[in-house]
Formats: sequence, C-alpha cells, structure tokens
Amino acid sequence: MIPFNRPPCTGAEEQYIKQALKSNKLSGDGPFGKQCQSWFESNLPARKTLLTPSCTAALELAAVLTDIQPGDEVIMPSYTFVSTANAFVLRGAKVVFVDIRPDTMNIDENLIEAAITPQTRAIVPVHYAGVACEMDTIMAIAERHNLYVIEDAAQGMMSSYKRRALGTIGHLGAFSFHETKNYTSGGEGGLLIINDERFAERAEVIREKGTNRSQFFRGMVDKYQWVDIGSSYLPSELQSAYLWAQLEQATEINDSRLAAWNFYAHQLQGLSKSGRIELPTIPTGCTHNAHMFYLKTSGLEERTALLEHLKSHDILAVFHYVPLHTAKAGAEFGRFHGEDRFTTSESERLVRLPLFFSITEHQQQHVINEIISFYE
Ligand SMILES: *Cc1c(COP(=O)(O)O)cnc(C)c1O
Repeated sequence: MIPFNRPPCTGAEEQYIKQALKSNKLSGDGPFGKQCQSWFESNLPARKTLLTPSCTAALELAAVLTDIQPGDEVIMPSYTFVSTANAFVLRGAKVVFVDIRPDTMNIDENLIEAAITPQTRAIVPVHYAGVACEMDTIMAIAERHNLYVIEDAAQGMMSSYKRRALGTIGHLGAFSFHETKNYTSGGEGGLLIINDERFAERAEVIREKGTNRSQFFRGMVDKYQWVDIGSSYLPSELQSAYLWAQLEQATEINDSRLAAWNFYAHQLQGLSKSGRIELPTIPTGCTHNAHMFYLKTSGLEERTALLEHLKSHDILAVFHYVPLHTAKAGAEFGRFHGEDRFTTSESERLVRLPLFFSITEHQQQHVINEIISFYE
C-alpha cells in the first residue's frame, strides 16, 4: 500500500533526542526549544515565536491574546480544520463563515467586508495547502475596520506571499508540526508567531500558566507569580529536539516535496488539458511549500469511484474537510454569511494524492498510472 502520508524523518532526530535525555532538562524552553525559536525568529523573520504543543494550542493562545469575548464574531472560511473555529468558540465567540475561492480553496477576500458587523473582532485566513490567501486585501480590510488578523498557517511553513513568509503578515500567525504537516516535532507540535509588538510580553505569560516565570528566568523579576489568565502551552524538550533535526534540513525537505509536487503536476497535465480533472492554482506572487497535491474530479460520484479505484490498486488517496457549517457544532457555534457557492461543491470534488518527504518516483508513477487508467 502506498500510504497517504509518512511522518518526515531526516535521520538526526534520534541523536538530538538522546542529547536532550542526557541533559536532564525535559520540560519546555530548554536548549533545543530556544534554538528552534531563534531559528524561526531569524529565518522567517518574526518579532517573536513561541513553540506550542500544537497549532490548536497556538490558535487558542492567539484567541486569549486578542481578548476575544463572548458575543464577539470571528470571520473565517468554513473549509478548514475544526481547530480554526474551536480556538475562538472556546472564548465564547460566534464564528462567521465566508465562502472560498474555487481556484485556491482559500477564503474569498472579496466577500469578507460584507460579513463584518459591529461585533466582528478578527479575521482568520487559512492558507490552504500552503498557498497564500490574498493578504494585501485582507490586511487593508482589517485596518479599515480595526480588526485583528490571525493567520492559520498550519500548512504554510516555508511558503510566502509577495516574499513575506506566511504567518508573519497578520498580527499573529500559527504553524502546525503535526506528523501530517511538512515538518514535525515528533508527531505533535506548533508555533505561535507574534508580529505585533503589543502581544510579545503577554504571550509568554499566558503560555506559562498565567505567571511571569519567563521574566523570572531572564532575571527581570525576583520571584514569579500569578499575573494573568493562562494555561500550559509549552512542548517538551524531546519534541523540540526532534524538530531541530528537521529545521536543520528545512530547505532539503522543502526541495524534495516541491520536486514530488512538480512531478505530479507535470505528469497529470494531459488530463487537465483535456478537461477531465482540475489541478491546483498557485497565484502569482505566491511561492508554496508543496504541502499538498490535490486534483478535482467532476463531482462527488466520480471522486468516490476514483478513490475506490486507487484503493484497489494499493494507493491511499483521501478527501479533505467536511465544511464546518454543515457539521453539528458548526450550526451551533457559527453561521454562514452569504451564499455557499463553492465551499460545499468544491470540497466534494477534491482528492489529495500521497505526498511525503520520502516518497519515491516509482511510487508516484504508480499513482499517476492508475489515475490515467481510471480516466481511460
Ligand atoms: C493541521 C491543522 C490545524 C491543527 O494543527 P494541530 O497541530 O494538529 O493542532 C489547524 N488548522 C489547519 C488549517 C490545519 O491544517
């Protein structure tokens, strides 16, 4: 069976984890944790970055930082992972879903402004497949209406929009290091990216259970105490050790994924040109990280048949999000603003092909051959 995903591993992870074990410092913000954060701060670059146990945790931290209150509204696409919405619903917010663009599956920036009400506090663009949302338009809307922008860049590490790294454009951004993403910190992990100076100090406090412990460790206060609301949002040093091995080879991993992505795109061009399938669009000004290779079938029935065909030839291809507004909790905690022209219909056509760091050309060729034979 060709799996859909395999967690990335460069080979150095084991050595760094052993090193962390020997150091007798296993909790968060140890040497590997700090090294990873410095890497992001200088390479993205970003004002400040904080490793978290997941992207979900980073989004929750962002919701606390932006002081989201019961009754506030937060605008986002419905075609996303549950955590994008949950982070704000946990603060009592109402989620307002806006339709997506069929070309990138990202929020349609031209529909956002009409969804704004006096209760709106934030916009949460999700960079689907590591391809950027139209951030200039989104940032201009946010500025006009005095809203926060929190980028769900869970899939977006190493991607950019007009030469700026995803996650560094909004007031706050979040990455995921879950094993299904391009880089992992041993299965679970995330990063909060702080671009707005106003959030830098409070973010550390909320992440450290609402204490000023980080300042204490830097010698800025002589004892640490409870100063704010907070939770435990630090990953362990073992997770950071795993991640460090991946950051050292960030470019190699990215190049290898891009090569695999381009191979699919090239080999499936014929089917796309003849109109049998649709392939992803990368808007000009965007560089992507090959997080995902998807194609679109003519509709739901053809998709089901294609997935079955691939499965019967030992290939695990998968569909993706069930739009949140069509789910039980989505109806309870959110509302869809305007017409669902593309969210549901486009999500029903989408098929994700196996793509991971160690995928071989031989495996990819088998996938390609079976897609072509399905359409013959
Ligand atoms: C993976 C993902 C998340 C959640 O990431 P975790 O690290 O598993 O919490 C959130 N949003 C999007 C768009 C994702 O793809």
